[in-house]
Amino acid sequence: MSDQRPNFLFIMSDDHAAHAMSCYGSRINQTPNLDRIADEGMRFDNCFCTNSICTPSRAAILTGTYNHINGVTTLSTPMNNTLPTFVKDLRASGYHTGIFGKWHLGQGAAHEPSGFDEWAALPGQGLYHNPTFIFPDGDGSRRESVHGYVTDIITDMSLDFLRARDAEKPFFLMCHHKAPHRHWEPDEKHAGMYLNEDIPEPDTLYDEYANRAAAAEAAEMRLGTHSQPLDLKTEIPRDLPEMQLRKWAYQRYIKDYLRVVASIDDNVGRLLDYLDEAGLADNTVVVYTSDQGFFLGDHGWYDKRFMYEESLRMPYIMRFPRGIAAGSVNDDMVLNVDFAPTYLELAGLLPQAQMQGRSFTPLLRGETISDWREAMYYRYWMHRTHHNVYAHYGIRTRRHKLIYYYADPLETAGSLAGTFSPEWELFDLEADPYELNNIARDPANAELVAALKADLHQLQADVGDERYRLDVD
Ligand code: CA
Repeated sequence: MSDQRPNFLFIMSDDHAAHAMSCYGSRINQTPNLDRIADEGMRFDNCFCTNSICTPSRAAILTGTYNHINGVTTLSTPMNNTLPTFVKDLRASGYHTGIFGKWHLGQGAAHEPSGFDEWAALPGQGLYHNPTFIFPDGDGSRRESVHGYVTDIITDMSLDFLRARDAEKPFFLMCHHKAPHRHWEPDEKHAGMYLNEDIPEPDTLYDEYANRAAAAEAAEMRLGTHSQPLDLKTEIPRDLPEMQLRKWAYQRYIKDYLRVVASIDDNVGRLLDYLDEAGLADNTVVVYTSDQGFFLGDHGWYDKRFMYEESLRMPYIMRFPRGIAAGSVNDDMVLNVDFAPTYLELAGLLPQAQMQGRSFTPLLRGETISDWREAMYYRYWMHRTHHNVYAHYGIRTRRHKLIYYYADPLETAGSLAGTFSPEWELFDLEADPYELNNIARDPANAELVAALKADLHQLQADVGDERYRLDVD
């Protein structure tokens, strides 16, 4: 008798912020196919990454551990592919497993995908047009360029995997898009979108970084000021005043970003249609997420890395007709490290002992979990590299966020030299959802800050990470 456990179609894009999805209330675009997943399943409104950058988030998802445990703290720390992952457990238990697209956990025999029956990976970030892929080849791998647009190709490979699979086995398929990662290159089909319209601007586009720690002003990810010709597909008129330049750059940037997202949405529709046609929809868990969030002109920025909401939040929508009520919404804090134990439990397996996340399957059934987390721990290690973002860690509760910019490269691979005075930021997310007003130094908040610091250090100890320096507060 064939294995009746659920199939999984796990679709993950790269740098797709929730506020560019209409099911999350986007003011700037429509994503009808992604909305199908949310409408027919559950939308998670507080799904967060534990380190807002590509490689580390992918390692956290696969291993269910924080980055100081799995060793993938930065873009310069590839994952050791002998580490245990949930995919390896699924495969060992009888799942047919595949991954197609962005891997970004390193190249070469020690780092390429392992635990998959079938795979094809973009080297590094990969290209949008006519990309090269790495394919398994005997005991090694080979590279070959594939004609076409990357989002279509990754979807084609995923569909091929589904069509050719052994129907006696359940599958776990990871469809990992490169899009909408920089440099946001649309395909011909979507290049004409938004030509004669202005995209609404975010409320914080003209942020001047007052009332914040020095890190915000120091960051080099301002639209216009730090945009490159490749980002905006034209020369940058650098003689314009900063805010005028920012206004102009935002339109150039966001239109390409949304065009690239539109292609993802179309291609997600192709996969959902296939599941319907093949009679697989009912017994297949469909997930759409992204490795982290992104600034869509919020704070005047592109990119991610900061613990601020737009980059911390991952879109996470999940459909499973057999196990999730249509149109449901959950606002509990779930983290990327929770995915692995959750998928294992849905497949009838126990989490691995070293996994630090926790299965949220009761939430899928609409239940509450009485001792679920009320706070989460975050850490960004990659001091100054790429966009001069200072290393920091912090705690987010439902109401508050306390961030500590320790601003020191330590011995972290891929970080740049230059140590600055540590600074704290505290935000009241109810009164100040855009995190514009740091209230850490207000004497009225002294007790709150002390309590949050204690909670932060406890969380840090709980997950096995270390404080920056015990003698520095
Ligand atoms: Ca990413």
